[in-house]
Amino acid sequence: MILHIDMDAFFASIEQAINPRLRGKPLIVGSRKSRLHTVVCAASYEAKAYGIDSGMPTSEAFRLCPQAEFVAADQAKYIWTSEQIFQLLGNYGFPLIYSSIDEFQMDITGCQNSLELARIIQDEIRKSLNIGASIGVAKNYLLAKLASKINKPNGIAIISEENLEAVLAGLAVSKLCGIGLATETIMEALGIKTCLDLYQKPCQFLESHLGKNGVNFYLALHSQDRFDPNPKEETIKSVGHSYTLARASQNRGFIQGWIRLLSEMVGRRLREKSLGAKTVHLWLAGPEIEHFGQQVTYKEPTHDGFEIYLRAIKILKKSGPQIPKIRGLGISVKSLFPAEKYFLLKEDIKRRDLTEALDLINNKFGDWSIYPAVISLAKTRPKS
Ligand SMILES: [Mg+2]
Repeated sequence: MILHIDMDAFFASIEQAINPRLRGKPLIVGSRKSRLHTVVCAASYEAKAYGIDSGMPTSEAFRLCPQAEFVAADQAKYIWTSEQIFQLLGNYGFPLIYSSIDEFQMDITGCQNSLELARIIQDEIRKSLNIGASIGVAKNYLLAKLASKINKPNGIAIISEENLEAVLAGLAVSKLCGIGLATETIMEALGIKTCLDLYQKPCQFLESHLGKNGVNFYLALHSQDRFDPNPKEETIKSVGHSYTLARASQNRGFIQGWIRLLSEMVGRRLREKSLGAKTVHLWLAGPEIEHFGQQVTYKEPTHDGFEIYLRAIKILKKSGPQIPKIRGLGISVKSLFPAEKYFLLKEDIKRRDLTEALDLINNKFGDWSIYPAVISLAKTRPKS
């Protein structure tokens, strides 16, 4: 059994948790540059009630709700909070993985009362960080993720053998992540409208009409997932983070912001494991491009989030002068080496000391009060 935890309006909830003045109000989290000419990075539930959602131009958002509050996005804060939640969840003793910055999955096989466990987890996150989470439980990753969306916000839903068909019948197939416009069109022609339609098609049928993609959908819906109970540290071949946006966006600044955030998360994971990576892989998915993935390999390994970001941006530029509409994106790094072994240039040493200082502060004094210091340190890093 898989338990999927999805934070509710994550960035906006964090801002509201820190600043009581923003609680209960429509809140837009956006780019630092200009509040009127950027894209909504996150919206509080009060803002969502006006029809505002992430990926929307802020000009449109302020038209819908002129009185909305505005806060500039602060990635360091969101990554830090994400890691606090990861640590908190780790204490439950179940195998745990990052699904994205605001989503986590636990293998709770053997747990007698998953509903009770979900309630306890929800309460603990609320008590320690004052932000809400929605939780889904099901036999595999995909269904658990779908379940977490059913009763949002602050919801819990379990997809069991008994209610499986009823739940899937109520969900449009477009709700499944990873379905591009082209795939959706083919499915429509095949009469697949709901997730149940897809669930009930035999594997062979899906393979003959949708190819490898069809088989993947079949497996994702029908499998009984378990985590590897003994993942060996030395077998780690890649480290990655990905994110699915609420709606597709073509805004370069917004997409680059997400690439930066994912790069910083990957960098921290590498430093935790004392590894450096030579290869950076960027993948993008969107309604027009379905999937785009490319990688670059450098002579010098790195574990610096900013450097990983710069390398990923070089790949992004290859996708053309105009960014395609992007809905999902991910950064992963490969060709991993023990970090001590490579030669560091003076500039790199300076930056390494700075990132290590940041990690130290974040790990040791994990408290909201440290934030101003962390942010001012972060500002001394090169501008993106
Ligand atoms: Mg979320």
